[in-house]
Amino acid sequence: MSESVAKTELPIAYSWQMPQWQQLAQLVDSARLPHALLISGPDGIGKHRFAQAFAASLLCEQASGFSACGQCRSCQLLLAGNHPDFREVCPEEGKRQIGIDQVRELQGFVGKFAHREGGKKVLLIHPAEAMNHFTANALLKTLEEPAGDTLLMLISHAPSQLLPTIRSRCLQMKFGVPGGDVAKGWLQHYVGDPAQAEHLLAEAAGRPLAAKALFDNDGLSRWLGYDGRLSAVVSGSLSPLQFAEELAGEEVLDVLDWWLGRLMALSRHLLAERPVPPGVWQDLAGRDSRLVMDQIDKALQLRAKLQRGAPLNKRLLFEDLLLSWFAAVNR
Ligand SMILES: [Zn+2]
Repeated sequence: MSESVAKTELPIAYSWQMPQWQQLAQLVDSARLPHALLISGPDGIGKHRFAQAFAASLLCEQASGFSACGQCRSCQLLLAGNHPDFREVCPEEGKRQIGIDQVRELQGFVGKFAHREGGKKVLLIHPAEAMNHFTANALLKTLEEPAGDTLLMLISHAPSQLLPTIRSRCLQMKFGVPGGDVAKGWLQHYVGDPAQAEHLLAEAAGRPLAAKALFDNDGLSRWLGYDGRLSAVVSGSLSPLQFAEELAGEEVLDVLDWWLGRLMALSRHLLAERPVPPGVWQDLAGRDSRLVMDQIDKALQLRAKLQRGAPLNKRLLFEDLLLSWFAAVNR
């Protein structure tokens, strides 16, 4: 149920997260840090690492300039993945929801004072929407009477799906897609080529870590492959059901990112005369923008469901997406 923060070095916040980092630094400096933070925003922008970096700095025994030293006993315990005053809860391997037992097991952690005298305890839950109604209520009950100074950090890609009673007890920190050149500079440093960095970021809707993942796992050529298969469906040489079956063997969120990315590009083209996405999508560029918006809504709802850990049959999911798309365009 718990996961180590890092193995070789402690995480630090990303360069585009400095405004939020400063905001927390001010709260800590003025002793106004609340007991619960909700860190929300799209997937792929580094919220998790931000939360881990903040936890490390709060637990560090000699943080300087508000970042963990990496040397003290607390930092060493975090590096070793067994800090007694830190817990991280995420869905267990192979599962998409956080189990109620995982939350009940936190009772001991929440009920004991920090090991370091006068120190804080930090509980990180990621992603918070992976808790269902029962689990979220169990968490609230667990947190009713914490011993000592306990900070709850919830990370969420879909905060609207959290229980209002959870949301209302947190200070909400919204993280958007980073603007300006900071993310581009970071990615360019990694991939080496400015034009490629720009292309990757555009494909990933501006989300730097999603863009990096596309680069790392050759996502752009994989997406072009999906375009090619979709094109075969449009030309009638491949059935939508067969394509759905192929897609069911792929990483579901990656396929949804491709689908959504192309639809978003199409909608930008329809609404603002922006460039049309590649290949097969050009055939659909003359369509009604409402139709595209409906398909975007559908895909976004599916992604939200997936992120919440709802059980889904991948083949049926893709069949539904493809059939509804073709029903709409052939109407
Ligand atoms: Zn330290």
